[in-house]
Amino acid sequence: MELLTLIGKASCLLNIVKIKQGVVMIHKDLLEILACPQCKGPVKLKDEDGLVCEKCMLLYEIKDDIPIMLIDKAKKLE
Ligand SMILES: [Zn+2]
Repeated sequence: MELLTLIGKASCLLNIVKIKQGVVMIHKDLLEILACPQCKGPVKLKDEDGLVCEKCMLLYEIKDDIPIMLIDKAKKLE
């Protein structure tokens, strides 16, 4: 699947709900279609910061309710 298609699909299925104090919840269905672009493994929601691939130790940020699933844009975790 092309990345843009995936992002489009993600925004269609957008079930991210912002609640008080910037806490972001992502619907389980959305998390299931999102995978780490590097290892294709599952990502986990980490607070409001974004999605984390624990295998690659990368954090994919969430901007404007859209998870940025790009290796180039990911933050390295210690
Ligand atoms: Zn990964």
